[in-house]
Amino acid sequence: MHLTEPFGDRALTQPLVERMMSLAERLSPRQVRLMEVCGSHTMSFFRTGVRSLLPDNVTLLSGPGCPVCVTPNRELDQMIALASLPNVTVATFGDMLRVPGSRSSLVQARTSGADVRVVYSPMDALTFAEADPSREVVFLGVGFETTAPTVAATVLEAARRDLRNFSVLVAHKLVPPALRALLTSGEVRIDAFILPGHVSTIIGAQPYAFLESEFGIPSVIAGFLPTDLLEGVVGCLELVAYDQAEVRNRYARFVRERGNVAAKSVLEETFEPCDAEWRGFGVIPESGLRLRPHLRRFDALERFTLDLPEPREVHGCLCGEVLKGMVSPDECKLFGTACSPENPIGPCMVSSEGACAAHYKYGAHRAVKV
Ligand code: SF4
Ligand code: SF4
Repeated sequence: MHLTEPFGDRALTQPLVERMMSLAERLSPRQVRLMEVCGSHTMSFFRTGVRSLLPDNVTLLSGPGCPVCVTPNRELDQMIALASLPNVTVATFGDMLRVPGSRSSLVQARTSGADVRVVYSPMDALTFAEADPSREVVFLGVGFETTAPTVAATVLEAARRDLRNFSVLVAHKLVPPALRALLTSGEVRIDAFILPGHVSTIIGAQPYAFLESEFGIPSVIAGFLPTDLLEGVVGCLELVAYDQAEVRNRYARFVRERGNVAAKSVLEETFEPCDAEWRGFGVIPESGLRLRPHLRRFDALERFTLDLPEPREVHGCLCGEVLKGMVSPDECKLFGTACSPENPIGPCMVSSEGACAAHYKYGAHRAVKV
């Protein structure tokens, strides 16, 4: 039996479905709006079929939980410009390739002759740099708290090996400040958060305490299998029904109160928080990371001078609003018409964790009126 099998077992899911229904009935006619912050949750809710089981008065909103989607055009333009410099190799995770910046994409730059290589680990980029000291190798550091520790460890290793031709474009983002920005903006009503499982494995439950103490918003940390997702929804409905605003950890098999201490210490040694721009949000204070001063020589933006025009957005693309839960993907006029996974206009349709891609893949586009 596969290790994950019990988490989809009907004997476990059925009582959770019944509990979900009875809580929703108790809350009716109130409409309860739950935000699944994480891009993988968006996909998992569709893929497992749990989304189709939700009661009529429970709405799932997608949030700013896909790191590719929240990367703003300014940073995408920087990545593409770096790739277009002579003698530079850009190494990236594959999901960045097709994301359109203001005027181009990495895949288009590659077609025009840029050396853009897909890697599965930042350590692969380090290997390229070591193998050919005559070329500059830049790794694109995109991702949340889940990915940043591996990138941090790679930078520390580059320092240990005293590599002179390796750098990182640090575009990492931190999830809790984005939740704060979302709640402070007041642009969307959220009754409870389903918090990201992978991010929480690193940071733990503690950094979400402000959701309860400052905003009175209930939240549940959840995993990605059917019982996890149902526990996330049931946990949120219980908290809403009983007017409790606590942070519940329903992914305790991986998430500790204080998170992964070793990963946090590598992060702390390498990076410090800084203000960062997010697609749709603008600049969010202390929501990004930058290399600490003694490691700045590995910062691609310090090493290379880029003179770029102001970024521009595609007219009609609602990715920014989708990421804030203000609109559902199928409310974008381009959804399923001009914008599809084969011809993506915005990042939310490119990324495997993007809300638009998830809605398209699992059939929501068939409901679009033409
Ligand atoms: S990177 Fe992991 S934690 Fe972050 S959104 Fe994607 S799946 Fe969730
Ligand atoms: S459908 Fe396409 S253009 Fe519209 S919000 Fe989604 S990604 Fe952006």
